[in-house]
Amino acid sequence: MHVQHERAQRLDMDFQKKPSTPSLRNTRFTEILIQKNALDEGGFKGWAFCPGMLFNSTDKWWGDQGKRDALHEGLDLCLYKDREGTILRLGKKTKIPVIYDGVVVGIIDDFLGKSVIIEHLISDCHNNKLCTIYGHTLPEDNLYVGRIVKQGDVIATLADSSTFKIKIFPHLHFSLGWASKEISYDRLDWGNIGAPNTLTMLDPLQFIDWRFFILARKKCEKW
Ligand SMILES: [Zn+2]
Repeated sequence: MHVQHERAQRLDMDFQKKPSTPSLRNTRFTEILIQKNALDEGGFKGWAFCPGMLFNSTDKWWGDQGKRDALHEGLDLCLYKDREGTILRLGKKTKIPVIYDGVVVGIIDDFLGKSVIIEHLISDCHNNKLCTIYGHTLPEDNLYVGRIVKQGDVIATLADSSTFKIKIFPHLHFSLGWASKEISYDRLDWGNIGAPNTLTMLDPLQFIDWRFFILARKKCEKW
C-alpha cells in the first residue's frame, strides 16, 4: 500500500463527539473497521478530517480545492492518525462494516463507484427509520437488495479511484439520515438524497464512535 504521511502539528483540533440520542450509541463502526483491516498494528489514534471532508461543508478537499456544487451530504473517511501522530490514509481495498443490523434497500452508482443503502431497525419518535449510505465502494459479490445484514458485517471495499481522471484518494463517503415514510428507495439517487420525502440527513460524526481531529486547512493542500 502506498502510504502518504505527514507529521501532526499541535494545532490540530481534537474532538470526541457523542451522539445526542443515547439509544444511537455504540455503532462499533471504527472499532470493527480497525479490526477487519488490521489498522491497529501502528495504533489507530483517531480519524483526521480536512474541513472539506465534513458534513455540510461547502469546500472540496481534492482537485482545485474550490467550492462544491452543493453542501456535502455526508462525511468523507480517508485519513487517520497512528499513535505517533503520523497521518495515514485508507487503502483502496479497505473493508467497510455496516454500523447496525439492517436490510440492503439500494445499491446505486456514484461518481467513484457504488453506494450501498441500508435501512435499520432503529426508528425516531415519528417512526422514521434510520438509513445509512456507504459511498465510493465496491459492494461484496453476495450483496443484493433485500439482503439482511448484521452490525459489523463487511458489505463492501473502498473503490479504487486511481484510474479516474479526477485525482482523488479512495475514501468512504458515509451518509445517514431518517428515512421519510414516503421514501421510494428504488428512485433514490445522489440527485435527490436529502430532498423532501427522502432522508433527513444527520451529521455522521456522531456515529463513528471514535475520537477525531480536524486538520488545519493549510495541512490539507496535499490531500
Ligand atoms: Zn463525500
